[in-house]
Amino acid sequence: MPLGILIDLDDTLIDDTFAMRQAARSFGELHEDLAALAADRLADRWGELTETHWRRFRDGETTLQGQRRARVRGLLSRDVPDPEADALFARYLERYETHWRRVEGADEFLARTAGVPKVIVSNGERGQALRKVERLGVGRHFVAVLTPEHTGKPKPDPSLFLAAVALLGLEPADCLMIGDNLEADIVPARSLGMAAFHVSMHEPGRRLVDSLAGPEGPR
Ligand SMILES: [Mg+2]
Repeated sequence: MPLGILIDLDDTLIDDTFAMRQAARSFGELHEDLAALAADRLADRWGELTETHWRRFRDGETTLQGQRRARVRGLLSRDVPDPEADALFARYLERYETHWRRVEGADEFLARTAGVPKVIVSNGERGQALRKVERLGVGRHFVAVLTPEHTGKPKPDPSLFLAAVALLGLEPADCLMIGDNLEADIVPARSLGMAAFHVSMHEPGRRLVDSLAGPEGPR
């Protein structure tokens, strides 16, 4: 067992893709222009737009609200006045939040690592990341929730990893990083000398609980 664990939030501890897709599937009910589109098509398109515009936000090219408006405009394929875009996004957000849930095996993972100090290291917007942790009822399991607001730079920049390790009073080599994103979570952790486990939520052998004991024994 590692001395400390760093763990990503979205699609590692919380099934964010599920919440996003479920909420996006109902866009047809939320806007008449989208009523004719199939739910799966809406979810796919929203996923693509989210990836594109969230990356722009994290690269400092737009604001949190700016990327939200851009996603709405992309989905409607036209220019949308800010108030209309904000109103539609707010209705989406309400639904998105109702679908937040822990990934399968999260309770078992938290029970088995009860004696290991853990820090959440997320690229999410701080307010929303904290709401997710609170809603999931997992806050007491973590020493802290670190987001790019702490160091000014998102993962894969090493600053967030190093801040988490320092908070635990450990060295990178003592820690295990768990995350679903190869580029943002795994590559930088390994460059710092940490062990890293690449989660894939629905893949046997690569789920969160599998991070603690692989075929070659405890990591
Ligand atoms: Mg993630």
